[in-house]
Amino acid sequence: MTARILVVDDIEVNLRLLTARLAAEYYEVTSVESGAAALAILAAQPVDLVLLDVMMPGLDGFEVCRRIKTSPQLMHVPVVLITALDQPEDRLAGLEAGADDFLTKPVGDLALMSRVRSLTRLKRITDELRNRAETAMQLVGGEMEMLRQLATTAGSRTLAYIETEAEGRSIARRLRDETELTVVTEPEALLQAAGGADVIMIDLAAERNDPLRLISQLRSAEATRLLPILALAEAGDEAKAARALELGANDYVSRPIDRNELAARLRTQLRRKRYDEGLRQSLQQTIELAVTDPLTGLHNRRFLDIHLARAAGGADAADGFALALFDIDHFKRINDGFGHDAGDAVLKEFGRRLKTAIRASDLACRFGGEEFAVLMPGADADTAAAVSERIRQAVGEAAFAVAGEQLTVTVSAGVAVAAGAFEPRETLLKRADAALYEAKRGGRNRIGMAEAA
Ligand code: GH3
Ligand code: MG
Ligand code: MG
Repeated sequence: MTARILVVDDIEVNLRLLTARLAAEYYEVTSVESGAAALAILAAQPVDLVLLDVMMPGLDGFEVCRRIKTSPQLMHVPVVLITALDQPEDRLAGLEAGADDFLTKPVGDLALMSRVRSLTRLKRITDELRNRAETAMQLVGGEMEMLRQLATTAGSRTLAYIETEAEGRSIARRLRDETELTVVTEPEALLQAAGGADVIMIDLAAERNDPLRLISQLRSAEATRLLPILALAEAGDEAKAARALELGANDYVSRPIDRNELAARLRTQLRRKRYDEGLRQSLQQTIELAVTDPLTGLHNRRFLDIHLARAAGGADAADGFALALFDIDHFKRINDGFGHDAGDAVLKEFGRRLKTAIRASDLACRFGGEEFAVLMPGADADTAAAVSERIRQAVGEAAFAVAGEQLTVTVSAGVAVAAGAFEPRETLLKRADAALYEAKRGGRNRIGMAEAA
């Protein structure tokens, strides 16, 4: 899908020019003539990148940028400020307003397109993460908790590849209050330590080794694929900087290096990284929530159902697998005699014993209520019976210390071995359930084996 770009400039001819150039590259462009109109568009439709003129009557570009970057709904949209001035103070004001980048008028084609390409690419990654997090949320019936604050940049670690030791030391000193900066002078050292860094800095002036190759190596390795890379460019070498961006660097700072600009650009990269990390974490937690039983910490029935469907058609099917259903004996008596909380405590302890009795490759789930299921990949009837017997003993042999009492708990099980790759999970479950019923009928505290399908 092509990226949607919002262009904001109070001078109509500027708008027309920029729009034409972006449209020629097949971007979908919307253009407006004021900051207020830009905010209205942003509230109404999805935008992948904002190109924002700084000097406008009414809300100026800095203010519009600030509002975007402090809005939980919009802060992930990249903003490039376009300024007529090229004063360090202006750049700094823009970066401090949260701008992701800068272009100076007249805007060169190379600079424009490389920034647009690199920022829309990053936006796509963030969008994908937001999407997944939202889907997962829907799955558990919650609402997407938007990241409310600008991700913090405190406690960051930066790893810099700078060949000239004196310059490395000088940059480290100047960024002392900003980040914990480690300088390496060899690419191997960088590649080795990169996984532990929040941001990578690469000196494009390096001569002993090719810094561009290093960037492309970082981008293709799994551990560093998404790490922000900030390049240090030589004065006037725009072409090399553009090449670095093409290869996957996220941004660059030109020499002579302005300490504040470097610090601000570093902060922008960090914020984006932490924002994406926050999304990834929330996704992970939501998924875990969706497939975990909160009382025992075991997987829940939903997980087992999905997993069984895969096991039945997947690699496990070829090796065979067994399913055992466990049901605690006379559990109602525990609830009735000692209270629901005592019942819960028994379920928890049961889950713990179940987990320690199975093999690492077996999967234990809380099937519902006081019923549990264990899926055993690769297990034949004998193995499944032995594992189930071990679980039965682990439960019955020692009393459960619950509610100040020593409770004797026993469990019955029904075991079924899947009949080849094609037995539907419904009939497998039905057979295991019938075997469990037989175990109950035969006196409980025993394992029932299902008949072959
Ligand atoms: P049987 O030996 O035939 O399995 O008898 P039982 O009493 O274990 O079986 P029954 O199915 O009659 O009762 C299960 C009880 O488990 C009923 C229900 O209230 C209780 N239960 C289900 N879920 C929970 C739970 O999460 N916590 C607690 N404390 N009790 C639960
Ligand atoms: Mg039951
Ligand atoms: Mg029971």
